[in-house]
Amino acid sequence: MAIREVRTLGDDILRKKSRSVDKIDDKVRELLDDMAQTMYEDEGIGISAVQVGILKRIIVVDVGDGLYKMINPEIIEKDGEEVDVEGCLSVPDFNATVKRPKHIKVKYKDENGDEKILEAYDLKARCICHEIDHLDGILFVDKYIQEVRYNKK
Ligand code: ZN
Repeated sequence: MAIREVRTLGDDILRKKSRSVDKIDDKVRELLDDMAQTMYEDEGIGISAVQVGILKRIIVVDVGDGLYKMINPEIIEKDGEEVDVEGCLSVPDFNATVKRPKHIKVKYKDENGDEKILEAYDLKARCICHEIDHLDGILFVDKYIQEVRYNKK
């Protein structure tokens, strides 16, 4: 396992769309382990592969109830609304409120290639949505700016 360098705001890679993973092999499993180690080292609760410079649809999440390694995650259900504060390892020393679904169902493949469906609420739902946004080149600050603009109208 190794700690990888975290890309930060201003790095073009954070704006790119990540590609689906076809083959779940040892290289992918090593990336998942490295991502987890990098996340814990930086005291984060989630990280996406693009944040360590790899454009693959892979995220890792641990909000305190265990580590989830998700490959090709996809939100298949969402409801409710909740506004809360977020931060991001790629946007150091900045926090802002963002509106997210209160409850989601996410479909993904685990590190063995088995398909899973996870139900998540509140912080866990928020964190998974935040990480999946990264896979589409979206940062939480974009949502924050949109909401501030919208509320001013
Ligand atoms: Zn982030």
